[in-house]
Amino acid sequence: MTDVFGDLVGQDEAVVTLRRAASAAALLRAGEAAPAGDAGGAGPTDVDPGAGMTHAWIFTGPPGSGRSVAARAFAAALQCVHGAGCGHCPGCHTTLAGTHADVRLVVPDGLSIGVGEMRALVLRAASTPSGGRWQVVIIEDADRLTEAAGNALLKAVEEPPPRTIFLLCAPSTHPDDVSVTIRSRCRVVPLRQPPAGAVAEVLVRRDGIDPDVAQWAAAAAQGHVGRGRRLARDPEARQRRDAVLAVPRRLTGVGAAFDAASALIEAAEAEAAASVAEADEAERSALQTALGAGGTGRGAAGAMRGAAGQLKELEKRQKSRATRAQRDALDRALVDLAGFYRDALTMALRAPVAPVHTDTATLAGAGAQKWDAEGSLRRLEAVLECRAAIGANVKPRIAVEAMMLSLWRG
Ligand SMILES: [Zn+2]
Repeated sequence: MTDVFGDLVGQDEAVVTLRRAASAAALLRAGEAAPAGDAGGAGPTDVDPGAGMTHAWIFTGPPGSGRSVAARAFAAALQCVHGAGCGHCPGCHTTLAGTHADVRLVVPDGLSIGVGEMRALVLRAASTPSGGRWQVVIIEDADRLTEAAGNALLKAVEEPPPRTIFLLCAPSTHPDDVSVTIRSRCRVVPLRQPPAGAVAEVLVRRDGIDPDVAQWAAAAAQGHVGRGRRLARDPEARQRRDAVLAVPRRLTGVGAAFDAASALIEAAEAEAAASVAEADEAERSALQTALGAGGTGRGAAGAMRGAAGQLKELEKRQKSRATRAQRDALDRALVDLAGFYRDALTMALRAPVAPVHTDTATLAGAGAQKWDAEGSLRRLEAVLECRAAIGANVKPRIAVEAMMLSLWRG
């Protein structure tokens, strides 16, 4: 039997912390239900940090480690009707399904979360929970808040409404990711990269994937649970990965390096375009329906002006989402490529660790012989520098071309 934390793979310490906090929160609720005067010293709606519960949390960890899985599971535990995350009551169920009235989830689909969105959210979060428990606000990718949005959030976290719990997800607590002032008001739950064995186990148990395929996918995904599932299930994802892992043997000259850069960029663009196309079209037609087509009455001119503004706003949002999808796709490719050179490095060092990419291990072994440890390390660093450059807003094509030239020259 698994409770709400069952899918949080390889994060035993974090689960202990969250379970304890959820139990403390459940006791607070029980205190509220008791007759007046029996609730003890603290006010019945106060969140007492000493009891293991507090009103603002940050889940940190590398992509795929389960930040948002942890935040959702914790939200479910807080809304649990029976205890602290039983996994089958309506509170747990609706939270995990994303339909609980008192749990709000912010998933930014552009490169940053704007101030307007944040203000509206904070305002709604201050209302009394409809189920008489907590208002929970989950903010995925809190590192993508704009500065103004961060300030709006900070205000709410500094003076929290009595029944509101904020759960933020970010790669780390570095000031680039989360402002120092927000960080200082939150309890941090660090998640680690889950070991491949634990990822494989959940792919078999939860997703019914064949154990052999799960083993391979978990290793190739380098601890990223969602990526592992995708590789195990989606033939297109496997083809894209194969194309990326073919890069090292294609780098035979300067021209080939530029060709490989173009191919990588274009593949990321195509993957991104496919992933956002459906949502873009649905939003456009929904807006057109909402605006009504071709009015001729007295208000029509004004309505048209308003419509043009809304359409422009939508296009802007969609462009931002497309950019982010491209970067994410490119980043996945770079992580695969880094895994290849890491394999070459560990083989050159004769380190007793399993390869990331079992299917290109022979090729990585040949690279290890040719490049030795130093050359393998330089190549691995070239890939990591490319990721960092794109993260720092260098134009992707320029960063990828520089990387390919380094990989070729060594
Ligand atoms: Zn429950």
